Amino acid sequence: MRIACVGGGPAGLYFAIAAKLTDPAHEIAVYERDAAGSTYGWGVTFHDDLLDLLHQQDPVSARAVEAACVRWQEREVRLPTGRPARFGGYGHSLLRSALLEILTERAVGLGVRVHHQHSVDADTDLGAADLVVAADGVRSRLRQAAADHFGTMVTTGHNPYIWLGTTQKFASLTMAVADTPAGPIWFQAYPSTPEVSTCVVECPPSTWRGLGLDTAALPDALTILEQVFADGLGGQRLIGQSRGQTAGWLRFEHVTNDVWYHGKVVLIGDAAHTTHFSLASGTWLALRDCIVLTRALSRYPELSEALAQYDRRRRASLADMARRGLESMRWFENLPAHDGMDAATFANTILTRGIARPPPRWRVRLGQSDIVRACRRRVDERYRRRSARYRSRPD
Ligand SMILES: Cc1cc2nc3c(=O)[nH]c(=O)nc-3n(C[C@H](O)[C@H](O)[C@H](O)COP(=O)(O)OP(=O)(O)OC[C@H]3O[C@@H](n4cnc5c(N)ncnc54)[C@H](O)[C@@H]3O)c2cc1C
Repeated sequence: MRIACVGGGPAGLYFAIAAKLTDPAHEIAVYERDAAGSTYGWGVTFHDDLLDLLHQQDPVSARAVEAACVRWQEREVRLPTGRPARFGGYGHSLLRSALLEILTERAVGLGVRVHHQHSVDADTDLGAADLVVAADGVRSRLRQAAADHFGTMVTTGHNPYIWLGTTQKFASLTMAVADTPAGPIWFQAYPSTPEVSTCVVECPPSTWRGLGLDTAALPDALTILEQVFADGLGGQRLIGQSRGQTAGWLRFEHVTNDVWYHGKVVLIGDAAHTTHFSLASGTWLALRDCIVLTRALSRYPELSEALAQYDRRRRASLADMARRGLESMRWFENLPAHDGMDAATFANTILTRGIARPPPRWRVRLGQSDIVRACRRRVDERYRRRSARYRSRPD
């Protein structure tokens, strides 16, 4: 089959890898509008389940991804005053640019043709392809060209956010809230290499305008944010330039579609659905799309049947996640008042947002004890090592 993937993000590249591994006879080309090595954004974080999935599908790229990851240990919530709250758990993170580099190299090694600086605006630009995989992200042009057919709904969040790097070396997944005369502002940060961390800053529109962030040029905006978060960043710098691209303020776009295919065009990843970044799940969901689509294509010889199967399975399993993503976006838009609240109580409201039966509050309190957390760390570490050994065992 001749397959054209539009978009060389995680979805487009991983679909190309998975499809080529399933059937090396496929002729696959990936078209990416950005130059090689240039991309937006900083690090992405994820849990063991993503590494498990990668190892099951393609141990070669999985090993490279795992080697490029750094780990964070525990989650931390800081309010402007009082002691930070800490919770157990761990996760992995790597730079988006590193992830794309690994996937590109693997795809090319398998015989996929990857064309950079090649923008595709309509499937008619790809006349000869039997299948067009629209992996062109949240503002997918291919999706927009047939928005009525796909039944696209885009709900734009109110809060501006910006995806930055920082020289502060965070060891934990950290949320820090600062109060300013213009209102609250907060960041979520996690390590992405041994030297730099990712820092996503978000605030209500009133804070944004009140601090002058709506009009400030990026260097000035970074100076304002460094002053506001002087404590949270330990006096370190924010970085606005990722690999080749300059950060800008955005509003989250929650995307859903009633149907994920139209003729020979199929939507995957953020082109099909987005999940608020506070859930840190977009990459994992995009990779799941790739695998389910690849399996459907190998199981059903008829393209329309394969796409219908993929559409049914993935849309159904994503409905709950879409709801949680929207709720999470709204939760941050209505950040609960935290005046006089201790960080553990505030953190409990974060951890239990959108959960029908939240864990009892005493568990959060208990978790603040250094002894309890040290025990949890040991248990987590043992579990992590066992999972890593299991993943990398020879088949
Ligand atoms: C602030 C922020 C933090 C996030 N943090 C996490 C996290 O911690 N963990 C996590 O799992 N997910 C996270 N995500 C979500 C994650 O980044 C996305 O879900 C994931 O990148 C989706 O992959 P994709 O390939 O579908 O889309 P993208 O990664 O957006 O890739 C789309 C590609 O298509 C290209 N393209 C667009 N239009 C065209 C065109 N016309 N022609 C050719 N190419 C085109 C783009 O240049 C881009 O390279 C975060 C997102 C944001 C905004």
